[in-house]
Amino acid sequence: MEVFTSVSGLRKFLSQQFLQQKSIGLVPTMGALHQGHLALVEAAAAQNDIAVTSIFVNPTQFNNVEDLAKYPRTLEADLELLRVAGCHAVFAPSTEEMYPAQPALKFDFGPIETIMEGASRPGHFNGVGIVVSKLFHMVKPHRAYFGQKDLQQVAVVKRMVADLSFDLEIVVFPTVREADGLAMSSRNRRLSPAERLIAPHIYQILTATRDRIQQGETVGNAKYAALQAFSDIPELILDYIEIVDTATLQNIPEPGEAGTSAICVAVQLGPVRLIDNLIF
Ligand code: AMP
Repeated sequence: MEVFTSVSGLRKFLSQQFLQQKSIGLVPTMGALHQGHLALVEAAAAQNDIAVTSIFVNPTQFNNVEDLAKYPRTLEADLELLRVAGCHAVFAPSTEEMYPAQPALKFDFGPIETIMEGASRPGHFNGVGIVVSKLFHMVKPHRAYFGQKDLQQVAVVKRMVADLSFDLEIVVFPTVREADGLAMSSRNRRLSPAERLIAPHIYQILTATRDRIQQGETVGNAKYAALQAFSDIPELILDYIEIVDTATLQNIPEPGEAGTSAICVAVQLGPVRLIDNLIF
């Protein structure tokens, strides 16, 4: 497995692969890797000749200074996991390498970013758009792999690919969970043992809400019951719960066809902000 910290080193390696007509799969990550990331890497390695994983804690997508400072960084362990997962190349640039100058360009994704994560984290999706488009230009992948866990990010990236005519396929993988249902996340490492025991309630409330809707309760009533359930667990400070269409991310009055609706939540638990969603 090759490890690059410079754009020029990465480009040199990739140009050799293009000469040999190799297909490239890219998995953008911020490191502190877990099985959710590795499922994407394994898929990229299986579906392409060359799997490239980027590890970069992207400052432009953080609106909270403490979240950026405390974001877990575990490069050596990540490299070992990537080796085992069959990754061929890792791109782990410094902030200076990624941003030799502060970008002037600003992305505005309209209605898909004025809600949920976009509303709670101003500038977040601009930062995502900037870094993902830079990575797409640097790597020129045939396929790029993203997790459904970040449902709104998937919508934003798909929109960007369409609007800017990136010639690549976006591949989305389901959320990988711990045995107790908690969605795997790099930020879970920052939970105390007591908080870690409370965290699975997020998934339990998501599944209960889905079940209520599937049993015929209205979306409005199911959402109300979810709000009640969150308020019964004082450690989980709810930022939002929205029941939306997976494509437009707009609120829905009633569920659509199977697989086109999602319940999305964000909560603060101790020092950590956690997001999750359930498609139904
Ligand atoms: P991150 O390092 O958090 O920026 O995540 C990198 C990629 O991994 C994103 O496309 C995420 O959606 C995806 N990802 C993160 N957690 C999970 C998970 N539990 N299951 C599947 N994909 C995930």
